[in-house]
Amino acid sequence: MKDLNQKDIRILAEKMADDKKHIDVDFLTKIEIKNLVHELQVHQIELEMQNEELKTSEQNLVESKRELEKAKDLFTHLYHESPSGYATVDEYGIITQANQTFSRLIGMPLDSIEKKPFVNFISEKDQTIFRARFKSLFRNPQNKTMELNLLTYPDGNFPALVEFKSVYWTTLAGERECLLLNVLDITERKNMENRMIQAQEDAEKANNAKSEFMARMSHELRTPMNAILGFAQMLQLDETITQKQRFQIDEIFLSGNHLLHLINEILDLAGIESGRVPVVIERVNIHEVLNEALLLVQSIADRFSVKIILSNEDENIDVMADKVRIRQILLNLISNAAKYNRPGGEVKIRYQKEKIHSDSEQELFSLKLFVEDTGIGIREKDYARVFEAFQRVHKPNDNIEGAGVGLNITKKLLEMMDGTIDFKSEFGKGSTFWIELPVADM
Ligand code: ADP
Repeated sequence: MKDLNQKDIRILAEKMADDKKHIDVDFLTKIEIKNLVHELQVHQIELEMQNEELKTSEQNLVESKRELEKAKDLFTHLYHESPSGYATVDEYGIITQANQTFSRLIGMPLDSIEKKPFVNFISEKDQTIFRARFKSLFRNPQNKTMELNLLTYPDGNFPALVEFKSVYWTTLAGERECLLLNVLDITERKNMENRMIQAQEDAEKANNAKSEFMARMSHELRTPMNAILGFAQMLQLDETITQKQRFQIDEIFLSGNHLLHLINEILDLAGIESGRVPVVIERVNIHEVLNEALLLVQSIADRFSVKIILSNEDENIDVMADKVRIRQILLNLISNAAKYNRPGGEVKIRYQKEKIHSDSEQELFSLKLFVEDTGIGIREKDYARVFEAFQRVHKPNDNIEGAGVGLNITKKLLEMMDGTIDFKSEFGKGSTFWIELPVADM
């Protein structure tokens, strides 16, 4: 036999190690046997190393399997314990799978739910609408929701918000498109909504009752008030009364007039609030109506030693408004600016036309009218109360009459005329109130 080279010895060593059979080595030389033993040792070391590697990868495999199990458990837990009920239905509307939350909502075990048509769990009154929409929902479910009344075993039902999503379900037969229904019990929300609607209805009823009461009371008060004022006026004409009596009768007359004014304001507010006061929108020349208001307010300005300055004289602007009501609004704003002023103070009135919209076909303008005073101003914390009814934001002052109703009426009237009101103020320095109204077509 020819001498064996290194490669042959290696092959012989592997054969001996693998077969574990007795192989006759008598034909080998001493050197070859030495080499063979060496190769056997090397082969053994290599096998041991391979063995180690195999063990490690086996361990890794076990570890990965454990991780996978954990992830699956977590998913299953999250799926079943999610706050939403999940039900997956196929293209025929049959439930292919559902979670525990859904089963709890329906009050039935999962095996009584799965493989049943979803429509079985919908209240009769909502079944038709679900059936009618099902095909289109299945085809295009994205961002679609429905409020459905669902049944709960044995004889209950509850309002649910159902959100739809398209999902792919892997079955033995391969991938299959399904519709995932995310079912939320909205009983609480519905109860809250109903409570809110009820509260709103109650508030409206109470408000109507209040307006009704105010209207009736004011009406009842006006009749005797007119009698008091009439008799006071007659007494004023009596020439036999003393100076002191005249002074007292003047006082009755003044206070009575003030009271009548308040009663009229309250009556007006009650009428506006109950919708009994219509506004008649017509073309009104702002310059004319402003001058009428100025005539009426002059006595108040004189009483408070306040100068009224009208700083622009554009006589050609017409607004769309109710003439009587716009005069009332101007009267209120200018008299407030005089009342809440300081002696020797000023009230500046100016107005301007502003473009609010323009295109090739038309241009729309609004009128902005500013009433600026140098008076006591309003603290920022009181801004929100200024337009509330019966709110006076300054300490009661015997000299300044008012019921805190004027600005509330003004705001409501402006809203009825598509107008707005706003103001800015610096406490101790003065305020500017402005109104905006649509300008009539040229
Ligand atoms: P009132 O009849 O009390 O004047 P309004 O409804 O007209 O009622 O005004 C509400 C409150 O807003 C007033 O009581 C006053 O405190 C405040 N106010 C109104 N206008 C002015 C003003 N120009 N400057 C300062 N405060 C004002």
